[in-house]
Amino acid sequence: MRLSPWPTPLDPAPRLAAALGLQPDDLWVKRDDLTSFAGGNKVRKLEHLVGEAEAGGATVLVTSGGVQSNHARMTAAAAAVRGLRAVLVLFGEADAARAGNLALEELFGARVVVVGPGEDVDARVAAVAEELRGDGEVPAVLPLGGSTPTGARGYLACAAELAEQLPGLDTVVVAVGSGGTMAGLVAGLGAERVLGVDTGAVDDPDVRVTALATALGATVGDLRLRRDQVGAGYGQLTDAAAAAMTTAARTQGLVLDPVYTGKALAGLAAAVADGSVRPGRRTVFLHTGGLPGLFGHPYAAQLAGELLGRA
Ligand SMILES: *Cc1c(COP(=O)(O)O)cnc(C)c1O
Repeated sequence: MRLSPWPTPLDPAPRLAAALGLQPDDLWVKRDDLTSFAGGNKVRKLEHLVGEAEAGGATVLVTSGGVQSNHARMTAAAAAVRGLRAVLVLFGEADAARAGNLALEELFGARVVVVGPGEDVDARVAAVAEELRGDGEVPAVLPLGGSTPTGARGYLACAAELAEQLPGLDTVVVAVGSGGTMAGLVAGLGAERVLGVDTGAVDDPDVRVTALATALGATVGDLRLRRDQVGAGYGQLTDAAAAAMTTAARTQGLVLDPVYTGKALAGLAAAVADGSVRPGRRTVFLHTGGLPGLFGHPYAAQLAGELLGRA
């Protein structure tokens, strides 16, 4: 099932390359931020996950995530397009002033259940599914971030696009949350060609990525996974990510987000600085989206305040 036009563009990024200390023709950006549903990586996973759900007779998609989950927003949109219902079980502090993904989920017609601090999210998802069954619906429960082997398969397709768009590709740099995106790339390109940058979404990204890539049939050697960009935790902006966001915007007009892609580009900058990504090689930065999340993060208001001289 196709939920977005493919392939996504692969754009040269000469000014960003130079700013990072690479040569101008060393760096490309894979534009998975330019997909359907306000952009982002989850739509590749959803093509497979929704297909599986529909094959099982599902009438409603149920998923979970943080209050600014991009996966939840894209699940809501995919449900709308397929004539299904969506129920999103979200955790964290929901605040109407930080609209972001929440505003889009209302537009897409999803039902949102916000769980309180300390409440068991999986238990709430199970309760929601049970309630839906009682109403005669057939719920399909999609896990956090859509990272099952089925979902990760979507990034096998991205790996194939990259191999065709850029022969001789040396390294793809990608943000790692629940791990399915990196896992699909590792399965398609080999672990040595994928540099993951952990964002702190889960405690064991290495274990998850290895398990998912193995489930896709890959023999996974040592992963290249940086864990030095997490900072104070998932969703907490770091100085390095803020600097990376400014650099990407002012060199290539690219908008990154504080939670995933800002940290991923900060990871690439650190990799160039320590020599693990070198000039003269073909490097791709995978832009996984997240723009709505920027407008759901306190950093957006801070930027506006700085511009207006009121920070
Ligand atoms: C979910 C997400 C990621 C991480 O993808 P995983 O497959 O969960 O590791 C990266 N960037 C953005 C913008 C995301 O929404």
